[in-house]
Amino acid sequence: GSETKGMLEIQKDKMTEIKFTKLFINGEFVDAVSRKTFETTEPRTGEVLASVAEGDKEDIDLAVKAAREAFDHGKWPRLPGSERGRIMRRLADLIDEHAEELAALESMDAGRLFTLGKIIDIPACSRNLRYFAGAADKIHGLTLKMSRELQGHTLKEPIGVVGHIIPWNFPSTMFFLKVSPALAAGCTMVVKPAEQAPLTALFYAHLAKQAGIPDGVLNVVNGFGSTAGAALASHMDVDKISFTGSTEVGRLVMEASAKSNLKPVTLEMGGKSPLIIFDDADVNVATELARMAVFYNKGEICVAGSRVFVQEGIYDEFVRVSLEKAKSWKVGDPFDPTVNQGPQVDKVQFDRVLSYVEHGKREGATLLTGGKPCGEKGFYIEPTIFADVKDDMIIAREEIFGPVMSLMKFKTVEEAIERANKTRYGLAAGIVTKDLNTANRVSRSVRAGTVWINCYFAFDADAPFGGYKMSGFGKDAGMAALDGYLNTKAVITPIFDSPW
Ligand code: NAD
Repeated sequence: GSETKGMLEIQKDKMTEIKFTKLFINGEFVDAVSRKTFETTEPRTGEVLASVAEGDKEDIDLAVKAAREAFDHGKWPRLPGSERGRIMRRLADLIDEHAEELAALESMDAGRLFTLGKIIDIPACSRNLRYFAGAADKIHGLTLKMSRELQGHTLKEPIGVVGHIIPWNFPSTMFFLKVSPALAAGCTMVVKPAEQAPLTALFYAHLAKQAGIPDGVLNVVNGFGSTAGAALASHMDVDKISFTGSTEVGRLVMEASAKSNLKPVTLEMGGKSPLIIFDDADVNVATELARMAVFYNKGEICVAGSRVFVQEGIYDEFVRVSLEKAKSWKVGDPFDPTVNQGPQVDKVQFDRVLSYVEHGKREGATLLTGGKPCGEKGFYIEPTIFADVKDDMIIAREEIFGPVMSLMKFKTVEEAIERANKTRYGLAAGIVTKDLNTANRVSRSVRAGTVWINCYFAFDADAPFGGYKMSGFGKDAGMAALDGYLNTKAVITPIFDSPW
């Protein structure tokens, strides 16, 4: 009808032209050495969105060479921190000016809701840049209290050429979680975006050049993981890898480092985070938090609260209200402002999520709602809730990366802690309670890098973010992230004439 037609017109208006599809090396957009390209699909339709230059080992070599030159002889690491900060703030301003276009590109390429991209993701990128811009001139060493007649101090120095390997689920956020602290530290870098969502990184490279970031400092090489990604991870001239992605690939990255030059690695990997809801919680608040914790960004979020533990006293009520809420959760086109959940990023992920639903049914969990694809085209999946999930079921152990909630009932605080920790992951945890003692006790006992009490997804540039256990090590965000791009050098000199 005419109403639908109106909606489609609005959506078309928001779509943006794709301007950058080549590799960005040494300040120039260039074709891959092999001239090869690959296609990125549009999750809302399943159709081809763009052909993008496909980098491989030769292109990584060129990008690392440019970054090496910029680090060894260029001005970026030698600039006063305040000057790096000024250029980074200029980039932040350019991002804000292009927020709508960037959000549209992210929706087209990754299926992210346009409205949320515009008001949450893109502004978070510029905020992150400004946070680290402010830190660039506050990088301090220590004066040491030596035990002999020696004068000692430490220098904090940029670690060198960094390789950033990032996933597709929040392409813009991931890009700046890595790039901002590395720029502030004075590093030079090569970014390898995910092949599923290669477009926004190229736009950022273009803006970085406009902002005055010198050629060679920030290079972007798109391509596949086993080729371009692996070449970066095993490169002899890369001084550090910062990786975000699956635990399986994180292991390969660490192996590649061990087998090449033993570069340090930061690994941000998968999760199976518990959200623990106690009897005293307001059911309305708790169900809302749970719904967000699992269905946000179609469940494609590493910290998803995918194991929802509910205390027995409110379990039935919780299930009833959650079901109601799932019904009013709208799945559809990411450009439609009334939609809560867009499409999964691609066919592979779409099939993967549906196969987990089958595992859940086969292993005896009760499918309360959802579990099916929806829409005529594109990769849409209904919000799905399983009840009676047992700790050893596949859907309770493995990361699904889709809109699938697993409900589990518990009796005591001890039981909740014990079961919450029964996972190889340790990325995040949520606690919903009004009892301060319970909140304190559980937050100290849960082995996870972030604990949210009466909230979820409360990220901040100042809050160190990273995993425990097989979710990884090292931090993105906060001053701890900056430290990950710095080396500490001890400088020692005798106070009196040297006897040595
Ligand atoms: P992935 O591990 O498949 O890919 C991540 C990146 O690694 C991509 O750029 C890919 O091309 C590259 N890659 C693949 N094989 C490689 C290899 N052999 N050597 C070097 N690089 C290689 O992950 P994904 O599917 O893109 O993302 C989903 C995963 O990321 C989930 O497990 C999710 O939990 C995790 N994730 C973690 C965080 C976090 O901060 N902890 C954030 C977002 C996503």
